[in-house]
Amino acid sequence: MQKFDVIVIGAGPSGTAAAYLLARSGLRVLVLERGEKPGAKNVMGGVLYRRMMDDIIPGFDREAPLERAIISQSLWVVGADAVTSIGHQNERFARPPYNNFTVLRAKFDPWFAQRAVEQGAVLVCETVVTDLLKEGNQVVGVRTDRPGGEVLADVVIIAEGANALVSEAAGLRQPIRAADYSLAVKEIIALPREKIEDRFHLEGNEGATIELVGEIGRGMVSMGFIYTNRDSLSVGIGALISDLRRAGVHPYELLDRMKEHPVVRRLIAGGETKEYLAHLIPEGGYDAVPHLYGDGYLVVGDAGGLVNAVHREGSNLAMTSGRFAAETVVRAKQAGAYSASALSGYAEKLRSSFVLQDLKQYRRLPAFLARTPELFNQFPGLLNDAAYQIALVDGVSKREKFAAALRAARRQVGTSRLVRIGYEGWRALR
Ligand SMILES: Cc1cc2nc3c(=O)[nH]c(=O)nc-3n(C[C@H](O)[C@H](O)[C@H](O)COP(=O)(O)OP(=O)(O)OC[C@H]3O[C@@H](n4cnc5c(N)ncnc54)[C@H](O)[C@@H]3O)c2cc1C
Repeated sequence: MQKFDVIVIGAGPSGTAAAYLLARSGLRVLVLERGEKPGAKNVMGGVLYRRMMDDIIPGFDREAPLERAIISQSLWVVGADAVTSIGHQNERFARPPYNNFTVLRAKFDPWFAQRAVEQGAVLVCETVVTDLLKEGNQVVGVRTDRPGGEVLADVVIIAEGANALVSEAAGLRQPIRAADYSLAVKEIIALPREKIEDRFHLEGNEGATIELVGEIGRGMVSMGFIYTNRDSLSVGIGALISDLRRAGVHPYELLDRMKEHPVVRRLIAGGETKEYLAHLIPEGGYDAVPHLYGDGYLVVGDAGGLVNAVHREGSNLAMTSGRFAAETVVRAKQAGAYSASALSGYAEKLRSSFVLQDLKQYRRLPAFLARTPELFNQFPGLLNDAAYQIALVDGVSKREKFAAALRAARRQVGTSRLVRIGYEGWRALR
């Protein structure tokens, strides 16, 4: 049986980040990927954050297959036939050091994995890890779906993504809870460059992102997105699986409805759908994070629930956790010890970084969203009606218009409920 220093399960951003850094440090690394190539099974909106990728490959943006540098980000609260938005556009984001980029994972992941291979990592695709091999409590390798496919390693890095079946099979985590995961669907819609630049007010390689909440989600805890690529748009929407189940709605129905909304329809008009993708997103936040290390193993990225859904950040937490895992394993190798206590520095690194600090800050948010359906089914309509009345110049005083908006909110939601939502919302975000 072959033995490596480290086996990485999965060639997404978290696994490849770990593999790249471990191989660069001279460790013998095997990456096992179930897809026919890295990225074949991966889905992201997808906004990639420069800083965290730069921490792994400095200056990567000069050679990586990136789509557009994002200069404009907005949030649309969508009503039945209207939208009220807030956003931020900044010229500083149009030049180095960039803030973030749109990417297509089918191009980005193979590029990133190839960099790890150049450092010496061995990448084997079309191979599914089915379970972990253990001696007592110590993880000592993996079992794969290949004949005789057992491989040994001092440490296994579990980077299998949101649908963490290996972790589940090995008893490292509970089966996934429908209330902790969104199911998202996405289309890549081809559109000529000039149309994208005209419609989103962009020049050259500049990009824009729009997140959408409200009417399009049919009252569910959900969020849509429209991101600009070079000559396509990434258009998608996700909702909590528990909400989809309760409502008996399929995610593609949400996406079809979103594409028909007047404010979305005119952005995608004339486009041609090239790809259709679906994927899970862990959205349970801090309290849904499983134990992230043990004897001979570390869990990184989505497999560890490391997603900040409020800020649509996942790939950056994935890469940073992959980097921390690699640094921890390099130290463990120097000490020749791979027990849980030898690997515990990984959790400490996560705790003292933005990864767990941000998740902890929003720890109360998932529960708040779940028990506040008004945010998704009543507030968007109320906000858009109020914005309509205030924008409409019809001789009625502004004072009367503000008072009417407040009366409508009290009538629909109730005064004490409004106060409670305000207080709980403040607590959930602070
Ligand atoms: C619709 C959508 C939009 C998103 N938008 C954004 C965004 O705009 N910005 C952002 O930062 N994040 C976004 N995310 C989240 C982001 O995609 C994830 O956080 C990130 O991909 C996590 O990386 P990962 O390496 O942990 O997991 P993944 O990227 O899921 O990679 C896991 C890899 O493991 C492989 N694998 C799984 N099981 C096995 C097995 N048993 N054996 C072998 N290989 C296996 C898979 O094939 C895959 O290649 C989005 C997610 C979705 C679904």
